[in-house]
This record gives sequence, C-alpha cells and structure tokens, in this order.
Amino acid sequence: MSEKAPSFLDMMKNFTKDVIDYAKEGAPHVTTSQYNERLRVCGNCPHLKRDTMRCGKCGCIVEHKAKWGTTTCPDDRWDLIKKKAGVNTHKKVKLKTKDSGKSAHTKTSK
Ligand code: SF4
Repeated sequence: MSEKAPSFLDMMKNFTKDVIDYAKEGAPHVTTSQYNERLRVCGNCPHLKRDTMRCGKCGCIVEHKAKWGTTTCPDDRWDLIKKKAGVNTHKKVKLKTKDSGKSAHTKTSK
C-alpha cells in the first residue's frame, strides 16, 4: 500500500519550521559519519519516496534534511544527536547529485 505524500502546504510548514530551528541554533551540521548513518537509515525506511528521495512523512529531501544538526526524523528512526555533542560546524558534507551520480560538496556554516 502506498503512503500518501504530505501536501505542498504541509511540506512548506515542515521546511519553514526546520529552517527556523536551524537558524536559531546557529546552523549546526552533523558530522560526516552521523550524516551517512542518517542516510543509511533513510535508505532502509519504508517511508522514503525513492523516486524523489523525499521523506514520505514530512516531504523533505533527505539528503539535505539529514545534514542539519537540528532536524529530526518524523518517525523517530534517527538516533538523537545532542546539540553541542557531536555536531560539527564549518565542515563540508558530501551530497550525491541525482543527475550525474557525482558527488558535490556543500560548505557548512556555523
Ligand atoms: S526522515 Fe525518518 S521517516 Fe523520513 S525517510 Fe528518513 S528515516 Fe524514514
């Protein structure tokens, strides 16, 4: 049975909340190993919409959502990452691009 994706309005609400939380906390990023672990969990999650690589619960693009230290899994599948305990700032995290299969880097900020 296919899970109904969140509406566009709900996705925007979720994204806006995540952006506000992220900015309020100083834009913390997880470590590369935490990021990879989150993506591994998402990759095995029944809620993942593989055609778009979006979470079926919140509608976020998991490659981006997983990078932020303030975001959480809406189904509590990620280990909690405590703020200021293992969250990196000013670190590059590799993102896979959908089109080319190549990796791109995004610079994290504090
Ligand atoms: S964020 Fe959570 S619910 Fe969404 S795809 Fe990843 S593991 Fe699944």
